[in-house]
Amino acid sequence: MHVRAILTTMCALGLGAVAMGAAPEHFQPRAKELLTDSIELIPSEHQLNVIYFVGNDREPVADHERRLSELLLYLQQYYGKEMARNGLGAHSFGLTMQENGNVLIHLVKGKKPHTEYAYGTGHNACLEEVNAYLDAVPGRRTSQHTFVIMPTHYDEQYNDLNPGGVPFYGLGTNCFALDYAHFDIQHIGKPTKEGRLLTKWYGGFAHELGHGLNLPHNKGTYSQNAALGTALMGAGNYTFGISPTYITLPSCRILEHSELFVPKGTTTKFYTQHHTPAIRTATFKRVGDALELYLESDSNVVNVNAYIQDPPFRVNQDYDAVPFTCRMSKTPTGGSAAYAIIPLSELVELKNIKGGTTALDILLQTHEGSRFRWRFPFNLSKVPADGNIEMGTPVIHRGY
Ligand code: ZN
Repeated sequence: MHVRAILTTMCALGLGAVAMGAAPEHFQPRAKELLTDSIELIPSEHQLNVIYFVGNDREPVADHERRLSELLLYLQQYYGKEMARNGLGAHSFGLTMQENGNVLIHLVKGKKPHTEYAYGTGHNACLEEVNAYLDAVPGRRTSQHTFVIMPTHYDEQYNDLNPGGVPFYGLGTNCFALDYAHFDIQHIGKPTKEGRLLTKWYGGFAHELGHGLNLPHNKGTYSQNAALGTALMGAGNYTFGISPTYITLPSCRILEHSELFVPKGTTTKFYTQHHTPAIRTATFKRVGDALELYLESDSNVVNVNAYIQDPPFRVNQDYDAVPFTCRMSKTPTGGSAAYAIIPLSELVELKNIKGGTTALDILLQTHEGSRFRWRFPFNLSKVPADGNIEMGTPVIHRGY
């Protein structure tokens, strides 16, 4: 009912909705079944560039277009349903469709053998060729977001039952995932070798795409995890397809201002703000059983997300970050401000919250999708109730 109500509102605004059709005839029965409860997605202005990249000595894994189309369309529905559940409307990442109902997946053959595009550094050579391909024909590039899928290596280490060897991570607006013979939605949720393998690699596919759509790691609050399962951008890549896996509201707020999620007709130029907004005022207080955060920025920032996590404070050590989000309201001087209350009961899964150093990360997001992130270490046990927390010297990241 909730989804319907949102859609009605959006339609009344003239944004229209994607007509739901039956899944294409050539899709597998399980894919058709999974797509029957599809919701109407609000059409998006921009589409994900989907690339299937192989070395000059390799061919795609059999039936890759059908398999990956089913997996991508199911994932598009999943993201759209999570946006709607979070009250932000049935927006999802745009995909370019072919007449036969498959997703347009560009097949790009590399100039070098597949071993030159391996995990670790191979993404550089790959992206260079992919970008040249996308820019060779006007209109071919449909957004700034590119998803590259490469077939697994086949050698003494890797095969269809142990795929790997290729890049598998997000890098800015690009992300990488892999393909193998059993990468087929018909195995989803099955207690078989192929089913467990699918959760690992499809969960990873969904999670890496999240990074490519601007999402940082976060695991959800204590109460959300109890009610909704595992956050996709936490450990959800291990649960997707076998147990409840969700996208947190702070993540969805970021997606709302991601280039791929905006509705048709949006004219905003994305990711063009290069100066870091200044934080004019920031106070962080313990008041009884909660933390209170007040922020004022000199820029017109739309969202503030706050993430609290245990150490270590390094890249890919932030799967445990507990997220909160707040809309920024405009101030009379052209800036923006937000006031957020963080109940300590939501932080009980953090080891250091009772003693030791934790970090507060503040992520400011602008209307055109740029994100700026500050990190403030703090020790809650040293703060008297109703006392101000020393915010320390921030570490600033951009687009992180
Ligand atoms: Zn990740």
